[in-house]
Amino acid sequence: MLKKGLLASTLILSGALAAAADCSFDLKGTDAMTYTDAAGKTVSEIAVPAACSEFLINLEHTGKMPKTAMGHNVVIAKAADVKAISSAGVKAGVKNDYLQAGDPKVLVASKMVGGGEKTSVKVPVAKIKAGGYDFFCSFPGHEIKMRGTLIVK
Ligand code: ZN
Repeated sequence: MLKKGLLASTLILSGALAAAADCSFDLKGTDAMTYTDAAGKTVSEIAVPAACSEFLINLEHTGKMPKTAMGHNVVIAKAADVKAISSAGVKAGVKNDYLQAGDPKVLVASKMVGGGEKTSVKVPVAKIKAGGYDFFCSFPGHEIKMRGTLIVK
């Protein structure tokens, strides 16, 4: 119960911060293996206001293809670690959402979704302030097109 109470307080606090600075971003995943914004423009970077303590990336799969064929997620990690995480994810397979369980290189990750589904991931802003962090999809091969930089401003 205590944990639930704390979570509720955190959500309320996030809401208050969102009013001051936009502490969230609505990202779309498509059947064309791309991340786009609400206007359909390809997203290659996301600006994270430094005033936010937590930043929420909301991912909506706007396509129709199932998770097994065109799954999308959002993984946050150091840019230098993306290749290694992707390779380990391929080995982990579909049953693990193409992410190795407990991979220490992964800062945070959403679940994998298919067409019509939504998910989100909370980015700890203090940890990415130093820079060098990317967001990408860990479905095999997707990181080639579905990848961008997180820029704390
Ligand atoms: Zn994907």
